Amino acid sequence: METLATTKMAMSGTHSAAPMRYRNNFLKEVEAHVEDGDWVKMCMQCGVCAGSCPLGPQWEHTPQKIFMMIRAGKREEVLKSDAMWMCTSCYNCLARCPRKLPITHIMHGIARYAHHLGLAPKTQPTRHFSVLFWKNCIKNGRLNELKLTIGLYFRDGLMAGIKQGWDMRNVALGLVLAKRMNPFELFGGHGCKDHKGIAAMLKKAREIEDQRAGASH
Ligand code: SF4
Ligand code: SF4
Repeated sequence: METLATTKMAMSGTHSAAPMRYRNNFLKEVEAHVEDGDWVKMCMQCGVCAGSCPLGPQWEHTPQKIFMMIRAGKREEVLKSDAMWMCTSCYNCLARCPRKLPITHIMHGIARYAHHLGLAPKTQPTRHFSVLFWKNCIKNGRLNELKLTIGLYFRDGLMAGIKQGWDMRNVALGLVLAKRMNPFELFGGHGCKDHKGIAAMLKKAREIEDQRAGASH
């Protein structure tokens, strides 16, 4: 039979495991490392952002809920969530928030921080697109749309890529005929004139961002 002592032991076991899952200093961490994270504490949980977001019913967690979870110290659940990656930057929430929180920026900031820590969900399509877009862009200082599209098509393997390409063949042909796509871009493509300048600028920006996000975190 369960005694008071065994119940207490079970409860203390639950409590000792809690700090692993819920870090109470998560709000401070967000304030220090996430762009505009110092605004989170200003949220009064009115729900206007959740009600204004066009993705409302599709979200795992609305911005309102994410801010509440941050304050509750639910670090793992927030950073591993795909909620922030769903934001389409429509700015509906930001325009309506009575406390003027830069909600859109905070959502993207949390997504970036989660990615930086390696906690963002690996299979999330927006995260995948962001990584692909960024790598493509910084290579020559400008976007190679053809390579980006092919990278996306072949994301799920060779056969899936071939099928996607075949399905879109008429669109591709139309783009070539309208001179909106050059098939030879596949073999290199042209870049910006001052590639070294762009690389130096990005290096500096990365240093500043890493400093903020805490590279050694
Ligand atoms: S609208 Fe602003 S104050 Fe209201 S829940 Fe959303 S973030 Fe918080
Ligand atoms: S900016 Fe993002 S979070 Fe805000 S309403 Fe639009 S999709 Fe929702």
